Amino acid sequence: MSMQGGSLQDLRSANIQKIIDELQKVGSATQADLASATGLSKATVSSLVSELEQDGRIRRSSTTASGRRAWSIELVQHEKVALGIEIGEARISVALVSRENEIIGDAAVTIDDQLPLDVRINRAEELARAVMDANNVEYDVVGLAVPCPVTLEGRISQGFMPLPAWLRSPRFMTMFEEVFEAEPIIESAARLGALAERSYGPLKNMNDFAYVLVDRGVEVGLMLGGQLRRGFRGHAGELGHLRVATPGNPCRCGNHGCLETMTSFYALSLRWASLDPAAARVVDPGALFVDALMDDDILAQRIFDEASEPLARSLASYVNLVDVPTVVLGGPLARAEERHFLSLRLGFERALSPAIHNTKLIVSTQGEAAAARGAAWNALLHQ
Ligand SMILES: [Zn+2]
Repeated sequence: MSMQGGSLQDLRSANIQKIIDELQKVGSATQADLASATGLSKATVSSLVSELEQDGRIRRSSTTASGRRAWSIELVQHEKVALGIEIGEARISVALVSRENEIIGDAAVTIDDQLPLDVRINRAEELARAVMDANNVEYDVVGLAVPCPVTLEGRISQGFMPLPAWLRSPRFMTMFEEVFEAEPIIESAARLGALAERSYGPLKNMNDFAYVLVDRGVEVGLMLGGQLRRGFRGHAGELGHLRVATPGNPCRCGNHGCLETMTSFYALSLRWASLDPAAARVVDPGALFVDALMDDDILAQRIFDEASEPLARSLASYVNLVDVPTVVLGGPLARAEERHFLSLRLGFERALSPAIHNTKLIVSTQGEAAAARGAAWNALLHQ
C-alpha cells in the first residue's frame, strides 16, 4: 500500500480492516494464518490483534497449529440488533439496540433543512454505517422515525399539513428501503421519543406519561396504560396546532395562531437568528440558541420565557384532559438544564387544575438520538 496521501492512522485502520475481512471470511485463524493471508508482517498482526482484543472485537482461544500451541482468533459476534434511524427536517440520528434492550451505540448530526431526499438518506446511511462499524455489529431489523403523523397502517400521513418535499415524495420510502435493504417500522418521532423514555430513561416501565417533542413542530407522544396512543387516524398529539392566538401568525397547516408558530424550536431559533447576527449566518441557529441559553444569556432566556407561556398553558390543558402524572420535555432544548425551564414549569403548574397540581414536568435524558432509540426498540417490538 502506498503511504502517499494517507496518514499512519489510515494505514493502521486499513490493516485492521484487512484482518477483520479475513476473519469474516474464514471464521477463525491463527496469527500466522492472518499474516500470510493479509501479507502483513507477524509483528504488525500481533500488534493489531492486541488492539482488537482490547476493544473487545475479537477473542482468542488456545489451539494447536503444526504440532505447536497457538492462539486461534475469531471475531466477537454480537447478537443481531435493531437499527433505529430518525430522518428529521434538520437532524439525522441513528441508534443500535440489542434484544436485551441495551443501547449499543448512537449518534446524531444536524443537517441543512433544505437537503434533498437522496443526500438526506445517504447521510443517514453513512451515520448508521459509522456507528455499526464502531461497534462491529450489523442489523436485522430497522425502525424509522419521521417528523410527521404516521397512520395506523404505518404510513406517512399525507393529509394533514404541508409536508416538506422530501417527505411527501413517494421515492422517500422506496429509496430508504433500497439503501437499508429492509422494510422499516415507521412511527412519528414524538411517539418514538416516548417509547425511548419508557425503555431507557428514568421513566423505565412507567405506564402513563406524555412526551412533548418541541422541534420543528410541537407534538406529544402519549403513553397510557403502557401503550402508545395514536388516535383514530394516527394524528393524536398534534399539540402544535392548537390555536392559541387570535388571529395570530399564519401556520404551515393553513390555520392562524397555532401554538407551533410561537413555541416550536424552529420558531425560537428564528427569533434568536433575527436578534443575533452570528446566528443568522449559520445553518443551525437553533444550536447557538441552546448554547446561549446554557450560557445563561439573558436575551436567549427572555426568548424562551416569552414562548413558554402559551406552551405551559397548552401542556396544562392537555394534562387536564388526559390525566398523566408526568410530562417529559424532549427535543433539542432538552440539552439545557432544569433551571432554564423555570418559567415553563411555573406556568404549567399555575394552569393545572388543582386536583392534579402535582403533575411533574421533567426534561428528557435521552439525548439527541431519542427518536432513533425509540425507533430501534419499536422495530424489535414489531418483529
Ligand atoms: Zn397549525
